[in-house]
Amino acid sequence: PPPLDAARWRKDFPVLRQTVHGKPLVYLDNAATTQKPQAVIDCERQYYETLNANIHRGVHDLSQRATEAYEAARGKVKRFVNAADSREIVFVRGATEAINLVAHSYGRRCIKAGDEIVLTEMEHHSNIVPWQLLCEQTGAELRVVPINDAGELMLDAFDKLMSPRTRLVAVAHVSNALGTINPLARIIETAHAFDAVVLVDGAQAAPHLQLDMQALDCDFYAFSGHKLYGPTGIGVLYGKAKLLDAMPPYQGGGDMISKVTFEKTLYNVLPYKFEAGTPNIAGVIALGAALDYVEQIGLDAIAAHEHDLLDYATDMARELPGMRLIGTAREKTGILAFVIDGMHPHDIGTILDREGVAIRTGHNCAMPVMDHFRIPATARASFALYNTREEIDALFAAIRKAMQMFGVDARRTT
Ligand code: PMP
Repeated sequence: PPPLDAARWRKDFPVLRQTVHGKPLVYLDNAATTQKPQAVIDCERQYYETLNANIHRGVHDLSQRATEAYEAARGKVKRFVNAADSREIVFVRGATEAINLVAHSYGRRCIKAGDEIVLTEMEHHSNIVPWQLLCEQTGAELRVVPINDAGELMLDAFDKLMSPRTRLVAVAHVSNALGTINPLARIIETAHAFDAVVLVDGAQAAPHLQLDMQALDCDFYAFSGHKLYGPTGIGVLYGKAKLLDAMPPYQGGGDMISKVTFEKTLYNVLPYKFEAGTPNIAGVIALGAALDYVEQIGLDAIAAHEHDLLDYATDMARELPGMRLIGTAREKTGILAFVIDGMHPHDIGTILDREGVAIRTGHNCAMPVMDHFRIPATARASFALYNTREEIDALFAAIRKAMQMFGVDARRTT
């Protein structure tokens, strides 16, 4: 794709026009959440100004128009992930709720004592804890695929962990702590050979990689709108219709039923069976606007741009003695996690903040990854479509300043 003009696109993001502690804001915490373009902000405001009504119930004009906009957004998501059918798109609160939905509904129906669930050492807590809860309730057991020191999955170990008892494999498409892109096709093929279903945590992939559910052939795929330039409080669970159809509801309430009596309740068809109660209508419609925005720029161009920033930043990091990168997989998205000898990541983050540079510090909701590298935390810069090389320069200028303040030698080796 032609190079992306980040300087042009960043004008669409009002938040980025501010200073922090007197310095221009350099926002590099995009893996936590992305900023929102004006088009998304306007879409949500216009919804409340012109369209607000409850959906799927009213005969009145406003309700019908709100319903149409809500269902049109579902169609956009279906196309965005190339699902076979829009009944396979369930709106949820975010990746966390999507995974919990599958753990509750699919898990309680299909996973029993003695069964095994395979996950990986690089999972976000939201793709660990729901499975632990399920294991506590059912007597199933977790098996964990280890990572190597580059932060890549050890596929031979994965193959050895798979067994006829494996019912489900839960794996991140992209690690939020390391940036590693996992070889999903290989994992899914192996899992299916054992008749296990595969849930992919796509929270860190959907903003960066072109998705194709039909080509990927995963059984479930979860992601959040707020990491994809959309609002908070809205996310997507993709599930194969055949599986979703056979699953019991996750929550009970309005909209998820077709008939209720005190003797027996009949459930609604897909996807409404899984959308109990009044959903985040404004969020769904604004998520549609976010997908339009991303598609207008093109995911390939976004990915190429972020990759350029990653290469640029990685080269600078390698020239800084004392700075150690955590996560050096060959296939990565724009995530640069690091530690500096003699400095706690929280101190790095605090000093960077004084320079207007926003990064994430801490365990990144992936404590097992920290344990693997025997560190309590990392500092993490993560890139989005609006970041520029000048911002990477500002990041490294701030890092050098922090190292000087802590008396860490930041002289160039060359
Ligand atoms: N999985 C991964 C890999 C993530 O990075 C995140 C968000 N940090 C989540 C799941 C959870 O997403 P949310 O908090 O939006 O539900």
